[in-house]
Amino acid sequence: MISINKRLDLHEQKEYVLKVKKCMDTDQWNKFEQSIQYIYEDMMNYEYGLYNDIQINGIRWKKEVGKDYIIYSWLTLEYSLLERIKNYIDKNYIKPSLNNYNSILRKYDYKELQGYCDLVKRRNYSYSNHKDVSVKLKQFNNYDKIYSEFVNYINIYGEFSKQKINWWIVDKTNVKVCPYCNLAYTYNRKEKVTAQLDHFFSKSEYPMFSLCYYNLIPSCPVCNHIKLDNNKKMSSPYEENAFKDIEITWKLAGGNNSDEKTLKELCNEIEINIKSDKEADINNITIMKIDEAYNYHKDYASEIIKKIQTYLNEDSKKLIQSIAFKNLISDDEIERFYFGTYLDEAKNTDRILSKMVRDFTKQYKLMNTK
Ligand SMILES: [Zn+2]
Repeated sequence: MISINKRLDLHEQKEYVLKVKKCMDTDQWNKFEQSIQYIYEDMMNYEYGLYNDIQINGIRWKKEVGKDYIIYSWLTLEYSLLERIKNYIDKNYIKPSLNNYNSILRKYDYKELQGYCDLVKRRNYSYSNHKDVSVKLKQFNNYDKIYSEFVNYINIYGEFSKQKINWWIVDKTNVKVCPYCNLAYTYNRKEKVTAQLDHFFSKSEYPMFSLCYYNLIPSCPVCNHIKLDNNKKMSSPYEENAFKDIEITWKLAGGNNSDEKTLKELCNEIEINIKSDKEADINNITIMKIDEAYNYHKDYASEIIKKIQTYLNEDSKKLIQSIAFKNLISDDEIERFYFGTYLDEAKNTDRILSKMVRDFTKQYKLMNTK
């Protein structure tokens, strides 16, 4: 629910690609270019607009790096292009393959196999009792060719931690908290321990994106694990205006006037809701069980409400300000000092629970001006 605003500059993009290059031998590197070209060949015919937009990016790279420009361009494609390529692959390869797959299965023992309609699961499924099905599925599956072009690059990703690329990415994004939940810190320690990188488009279904910088999201282990492979549309922290419609709100079982409750009553009555009008955001929240995670911290949430109540009270505000002043805490620092986080949206990426504090303050003010 926290967007990542940092984008690599040209120098950093080159640095990233050179780091990835170190993970491959010459053959793999050359083969990589051919695999990317393989996607472009079809795209040229089926979706020229997208192909053209990618080529514009490629030409920019050609001037910078010469012959390796196709790989440079691919590995640093901005998120919006990655998403368009993913949609193109879904439409032209995955969906037709699944349709063929379903129509073949309907003729067989569909019940037994219907749980394997997902391409990833299908690949791992043993068709020992259905050899004829297996042959037919291969025949009618046009995604397998693209998949097999890229599947080896999942192993190349395995080299990232040896080359300390994970560490480098977490450092570059300058995100100190998990962008999916804002509940856990994403650490870098001594180039050895670092945050996990979530493949926003999963590497098992879309191995072509397994090394693309803007597909790699520093995240906490829980979010990374719980998200796993699912094919629902979710919001990426790299999207333009990512998560801007998400709001964390509270309601109380026995009437909503928090000023009349003790801290203990607040804690007993509070229910935290996370909402958005955007379907993709809602998928993030439900799939990753984000509201469940927040409701686990009701004690903290009720303390925040009490803090807001006292902070916005004129008398206590004066008192807090005078204490702060005596302790050399400036007006700019006072909210952070008091709430333990920033209320400024731009600094959301630095502290855990910063979004909840900010949204709760908004809600409190709104309730008390009515
Ligand atoms: Zn998380």
